[in-house]
Amino acid sequence: MFIIRAHHLLCVLGFKGYGYSEDFIDNFTKIHKEVKKKSTIIKIVCEKDDVCKCCPKLRTDCLEDINPGNIDKAVLSKLKIAAGSIYKSETIYRKLTDCIKVDDLDVICASCPWLEKGWCKQGLKKLKDKLAV
Ligand code: SF4
Ligand code: SF4
Repeated sequence: MFIIRAHHLLCVLGFKGYGYSEDFIDNFTKIHKEVKKKSTIIKIVCEKDDVCKCCPKLRTDCLEDINPGNIDKAVLSKLKIAAGSIYKSETIYRKLTDCIKVDDLDVICASCPWLEKGWCKQGLKKLKDKLAV
């Protein structure tokens, strides 16, 4: 089972192999691959997760910069689920595409410097298109 903070469900969709350190990228690459499998079990949290554990920003400025807990809460609120919920990847991503519009990221992720790249919005749009067929 993977422990994933709520907003990282979205970050996974925009991951293109970039990040904060080699360790971070290697770890996120593995998580990205596993989370994309339909049967992977994910526990959704609003705290440090399996992505954060390899992130150099955890010990420095992440909390002041982007306040990840607030982004998690915004995602949980959109999904109408509580922190600690456990889902199969297939189920939570179906729910995510049903509950979150692409342009919602402009609000949910407003404090994140990666938003302007457009990758996360593109990733969400791509998944919505895939699940719609
Ligand atoms: S914009 Fe930032 S917080 Fe939002 S999904 Fe992308 S990387 Fe994650
Ligand atoms: S920036 Fe913060 S929330 Fe994002 S992975 Fe690093 S420690 Fe976790």
